[in-house]
Amino acid sequence: MDALTDEQRACLRLSLVALERELERVHEASADGAAPVELDQPIGRISRMDAIQQQRMLQANRAAMQRRLQLARAALRRFDEDEYGGCVACGEDVGFRRLEAQPEAPLCIACQSRSEQRG
Ligand SMILES: [Zn+2]
Repeated sequence: MDALTDEQRACLRLSLVALERELERVHEASADGAAPVELDQPIGRISRMDAIQQQRMLQANRAAMQRRLQLARAALRRFDEDEYGGCVACGEDVGFRRLEAQPEAPLCIACQSRSEQRG
């Protein structure tokens, strides 16, 4: 896989900064909905279960968002350390096409599928 050109790096950095901002914004905006459901709220049993269900989904989404935000921030740090674009596990180039789709990706495709197999 080819190393990134300066132009590609500049483009990916912009995507990462935009991704970080967007995730921060959405994460913040969803904070209220993720607050614990008040058990003495005057809502029926069914709607309370609905509310708890919805809240669990929202919390799972927020957790996924939080993880992605951490990856994006770590990727920006690797930019500062001039290590961006290399796989953090094996050091091979992650490749522009993969980074274009997922600028926060810390692993090359081989290491990524290995880590998914491990679970
Ligand atoms: Zn790798």
